[in-house]
Amino acid sequence: MALRLFDTYAREVREFVPLNADGPVGLYACGPTVYHYAHIGNLRTYLFVDWLRRGLEYCGFDVNHVMNITDVGHLTSDADTGEDKMELGALRMGMDAWEVARFFTDAFRTDLDALNIANPHTWCNATDHIAEQIEFVSDLEAKGFTYRTSDGIYFDSRRLNSYGHLARLNIEGLQAGARVDQGERRFVTDFALWKFSPKDEQRQMEWHSPWGRGFPGWHIECSAMSAKYLGDFFDIHCGGEDHIPIHHTNEIAQTEASRGTRLANFWMHGYFLQLDGEKMAKSSGDFLRLTSLIEAGHDPLVYRYFCLTAHYRSKLTFSWESIESAATALGRLRQTVRDWGDAGEAAPDPGFMEEFRTHVENDLNLPRALALTWDLTRADLPDPVRKATVLAFDVVFGLELAEWEPETEAVPAEVLGLAADRQAARESKDWARADALRDALAELGWTVEDTREGPRLLKT
Ligand code: AMP
Ligand code: ZN
Repeated sequence: MALRLFDTYAREVREFVPLNADGPVGLYACGPTVYHYAHIGNLRTYLFVDWLRRGLEYCGFDVNHVMNITDVGHLTSDADTGEDKMELGALRMGMDAWEVARFFTDAFRTDLDALNIANPHTWCNATDHIAEQIEFVSDLEAKGFTYRTSDGIYFDSRRLNSYGHLARLNIEGLQAGARVDQGERRFVTDFALWKFSPKDEQRQMEWHSPWGRGFPGWHIECSAMSAKYLGDFFDIHCGGEDHIPIHHTNEIAQTEASRGTRLANFWMHGYFLQLDGEKMAKSSGDFLRLTSLIEAGHDPLVYRYFCLTAHYRSKLTFSWESIESAATALGRLRQTVRDWGDAGEAAPDPGFMEEFRTHVENDLNLPRALALTWDLTRADLPDPVRKATVLAFDVVFGLELAEWEPETEAVPAEVLGLAADRQAARESKDWARADALRDALAELGWTVEDTREGPRLLKT
């Protein structure tokens, strides 16, 4: 078998063959717009990207992972009207737009760390790549793909025959059904490459360009930065499913018009986390963050486990009950794995490993791989073998099963003293005294469990 992944562009699961047999796999993930905290839906998408990267690495590929930070140009309406989300964030927070970007980038990275999501090899900010974006737009202009309106430079989507293929857009139907005010745009799918600053107003984030003072459109940053760090045609580009009809469609259009490639060989999309059937919107400001789960008493990895229970190409509905179930399941798994003790020299079980790999290679079927983990807990295998096997699985899951320790409450000196006396009584085979001491411990609210590593005190 070989790794097979679903490619949205081809609309099928196909074998993943790296473009460059010697070099690393190029992986670009669209990053957050840093005008607010990430909600747990956003984080589901970054968990998907992390599992994709781990899956590729598990299958023996080196990965070069690039993620952008959108810190300018994303407007409140995807039709390139409305206000810049960053400038609005600045008003809301009482900071300048640059401080807002730094603040929410830091918060985002803290969330990634808490979820054990590997850092990309390269982070790139849109505002650090203005020259590259201007150059890209100039090239599109030279090739005749742009036009100018009173508020910006736009991409002329009808000049590109393949426009909209990724989303299988029905262009004529879209135009006929367009009710939104198109402004001066010539066609409903045309989009901004460069927006002019309002004449009588100085924006916090603006730059000089051949077309005048202004700022880049949202889509151009990803075409320009992915080309810089991964080349004009690289292996995998990913993001959330909402990017299919607009953002990724427009990234492909720009790159196709300028460089003649469809940007990436595979286009992969993580499906949404829903809240009781509704979409979770960051712009509403009223949303669940990772810290909401932490404040409710959950370890952040509970959210990781919860997301692992659904395939990345299916929607997942959030509820507090399902988070509770995930917490219980992860707690049981952690305790079981810890109770298996050390793997020592044991090797993972070949049968389980083969099945695990089949699931990973089958378009990252991690829910099945997780079910296999529960089979492993019931399998008739020596504990060290089970331990070695589950730790090999966890390289992909990223649940940090090897590191987990039960929370130890500070044990009062009196309890420690009784436990030590009981241990001494057991060693001298004075079972009656040992039992009496166990009862004394119970009265103080502690139980003692005799494990292979010695007695363990638990609060009852
Ligand atoms: P944004 O910060 O709004 O640019 O979004 C960051 C990422 O989160 C993008 O890849 C979106 O596609 C993704 N995303 C947005 N909402 C959700 C959701 N409810 N579930 C999963 N991913 C989402
Ligand atoms: Zn992007």
